[in-house]
Amino acid sequence: MAARPWRAAAVVAGSVTVSSADPQAETVVDLDAVAHNVRTLREYAGDAAVMAVVKADGYNHGAVRIGRAALAAGAAELGVTTIAEALALRAAGIDAPILSWLNTSDADYPAAVAADIEIGVSSVAQLRAVERAARSTGRTATVTLKVDTGLNRNGIPETEYPKVLTLLRELVAEQSVRFRAMFSHLARADEPRHPAIDVQRDRFMDAIALAKDHGLQPDLVHLANSAAALTRPDLAFDMIRPGIAVYGLSPVPELSDFGLRPAMTFRARVALVKPVAAGEGVSYGHEWVAPRDTTVALVPVGYADGVPRSLGGRIGIRLGERDYPAVGRVCMDQLMVDLGDNPDGVREGDPAVLFGGAPGDPHPQRWADLLGTIHYEIVCFPRGRVVRRYVGDPRRPRGAL
Ligand SMILES: *Cc1c(COP(=O)(O)O)cnc(C)c1O
Repeated sequence: MAARPWRAAAVVAGSVTVSSADPQAETVVDLDAVAHNVRTLREYAGDAAVMAVVKADGYNHGAVRIGRAALAAGAAELGVTTIAEALALRAAGIDAPILSWLNTSDADYPAAVAADIEIGVSSVAQLRAVERAARSTGRTATVTLKVDTGLNRNGIPETEYPKVLTLLRELVAEQSVRFRAMFSHLARADEPRHPAIDVQRDRFMDAIALAKDHGLQPDLVHLANSAAALTRPDLAFDMIRPGIAVYGLSPVPELSDFGLRPAMTFRARVALVKPVAAGEGVSYGHEWVAPRDTTVALVPVGYADGVPRSLGGRIGIRLGERDYPAVGRVCMDQLMVDLGDNPDGVREGDPAVLFGGAPGDPHPQRWADLLGTIHYEIVCFPRGRVVRRYVGDPRRPRGAL
């Protein structure tokens, strides 16, 4: 049995969740960090409100717990992609405004209307579908227009926009629909001085003006994602709509960390420590051969758990006070780390941090750089057998989700 058991490490970190079987690998999500990040964003927002984006299961941090923590820290609303995501938040008892903005015209609008989910509309067909849902449920649907100002992805294209406004005005007049808000999404917000941002802002203001010309006055308008929220305060409008910054990762890492604190730590426990003689190959294909007599640690996390195989031999793993090189191929369930003469006395059961938020932890940006991607994708990697645990939420009642 390990002298420094895994559980002890989690308890030190403040966890109140102790499962009966210790997981092989886990993500530890620090809700204090989330609260800190939301408070930081509120400062940047000035008078504008904050909508915390918790799509994709809260960027793989857990939408319900992140949503609750963000609201408790002063976020006013939550944003998600799909109606199913929005309904899951309602089912967990969250009664704050929730906007769902990426829906097909055959999405479950009746369920959304019944649960008082605000529906982001990107076409006449979607607005028609919302109209049918309002009629079938006998309730007023709340609609937000998502206008395409140059991202050319989701959102109402300029050519269709007048038709949407004409129909929306009819539906508002007969009270099947309440028109609440308008928003748009920026293509190049992570390049704070790029002229495309100002082009989109101008088109957004034109779209708001055209709605007013149709007798449609939104209660609020919003444009800024994390990058714009932190670098372009002039674009805050009535609400900012940050995602990645809520999770503590900088949307413009080359510029600043903005005082954000990464919320996710991805770690596993050392399963085995063993000597390897000079000249012996380690892991499939013997891609790494011990250059000297050494000690290796087996970390039971692999590509099935979200450690890309292509990172084999390229990352450092935090064990004790320092990073040790991962060596040889990453396998489905495990990877190996070279401890040299094991100066820290690493033992079975010790926590091995793949990436994390504490000072000195390998940062997800490192993986992103190696893989030619962004840290948004990295925090979405842990999956499958990886168990998620929360720390730092004193408000949480015992036994709650
Ligand atoms: C994902 C998303 C956001 C949040 O973006 P971040 O870059 O994570 O801040 C905001 N608005 C929309 C429409 C989105 O799809």
